Amino acid sequence: MNFYDDMMKRRIQYCAVCEKPRKYVVEDLAVGTRAFCSEKCYAEFAGLPFMGEGYYGLEEYEDE
Ligand SMILES: [Zn+2]
Repeated sequence: MNFYDDMMKRRIQYCAVCEKPRKYVVEDLAVGTRAFCSEKCYAEFAGLPFMGEGYYGLEEYEDE
């Protein structure tokens, strides 16, 4: 594993908004890959309205 992979793995361990353990990982954000504990945090981070858990259909992330 190289340094960049290691850094990215660490970055996606915790929610980008509230720093709780992550549940979802979203790779196609304008700022790159970020992790979120809930769709509420995802919506807040992305500047989207929160419409309820499951609305955006984020897939739960599993370590390989
Ligand atoms: Zn969160």
